[in-house]
Amino acid sequence: MSKVPKIAVIGSNMIDLITNIHRMPMQGETVEAPDFDLGFGGKGANQAVAAAKLGAEVVMVTKVGDDMFGRGVKENFASFGIDITYVETAPGVTNGVAPIFVDRDGNNSILIVKGANEHLRPEDVDKARDKVLGSDFILLQLEVPLETVYRAIEFGVENSIPVILNPAPARPLDFEYVKKVSVFVPNEVELQMITDMPTSTMEEVQKAGESLLERGVKTVLVTLGARGALLLQDGHCELFPAVKVSPKDTTGAGDAFIGSFAYYYALTGDIAQAVKIANHYAALSTLNTGTQKAFYSREEFDRARAGLAKE
Ligand code: ADP
Repeated sequence: MSKVPKIAVIGSNMIDLITNIHRMPMQGETVEAPDFDLGFGGKGANQAVAAAKLGAEVVMVTKVGDDMFGRGVKENFASFGIDITYVETAPGVTNGVAPIFVDRDGNNSILIVKGANEHLRPEDVDKARDKVLGSDFILLQLEVPLETVYRAIEFGVENSIPVILNPAPARPLDFEYVKKVSVFVPNEVELQMITDMPTSTMEEVQKAGESLLERGVKTVLVTLGARGALLLQDGHCELFPAVKVSPKDTTGAGDAFIGSFAYYYALTGDIAQAVKIANHYAALSTLNTGTQKAFYSREEFDRARAGLAKE
């Protein structure tokens, strides 16, 4: 029987409140908007769902709100077979929400209310110990308190569980912790903000990535949208070009990439192979609107990839 990857995600969840608007109301004004949609989101949750849809055994460690959103988020995780033992409710606190306003030209204005995500504490990492032990990877992002992220990195080191850190959204980081992660996966904007170096050209991306290797990070994997992904490690640097598609909605492509990368890296043990497949998985996720609902199951993905290979 083939191996079932086991992934522990310690991170955020949000409810996306997406309103399509003709224009923003002015102060004191009420205007009608044509459409509204509600989606499950948050970087941690999205990455967990991508890995689970592919067939990973996923443990989610997160805090939900003491409200109807919190209950919905729990149910959503459970519907994908994600272990929700440590999806805990923060008493008296609202769920994390992201009110998103999309105008007729597709431009986004986004508010983030972290809510319960701010209540995921370092102690919660240790509390979830029994479920996290034995994971192939711990997957982290930066939408929860930094001290919790740092504790999770330490936990990984203490228990020989490699850590994949997606530094999103970008924040100043303590490299005493960052250098202990196995794979550091920023997009080009995050790379620019964290290194304070330009990342417009491929040469600049490479230089900025190398500066992280010099600071002790073992492996850097930079996602570059339609340009693909750049892998830097052991003095080697390799570009994996993106799969050519005509995207409908690239929201959540980074999360699709990371969730699938973790799954296939655990499955194959081959990082280059995992990057190639993650490029495919993320590209396919841009063909559908929405975030989690745009992610393919393993079966859908295998079928779609076979189709792409024939073209
Ligand atoms: P983020 O969503 O964090 O901004 P990126 O835009 O770098 O992340 O996208 C993540 C990955 O998704 C890319 O490395 C690539 O594999 C895939 N991807 C994103 N946009 C496209 C696109 N327009 N065409 C093909 N693949 C894409």
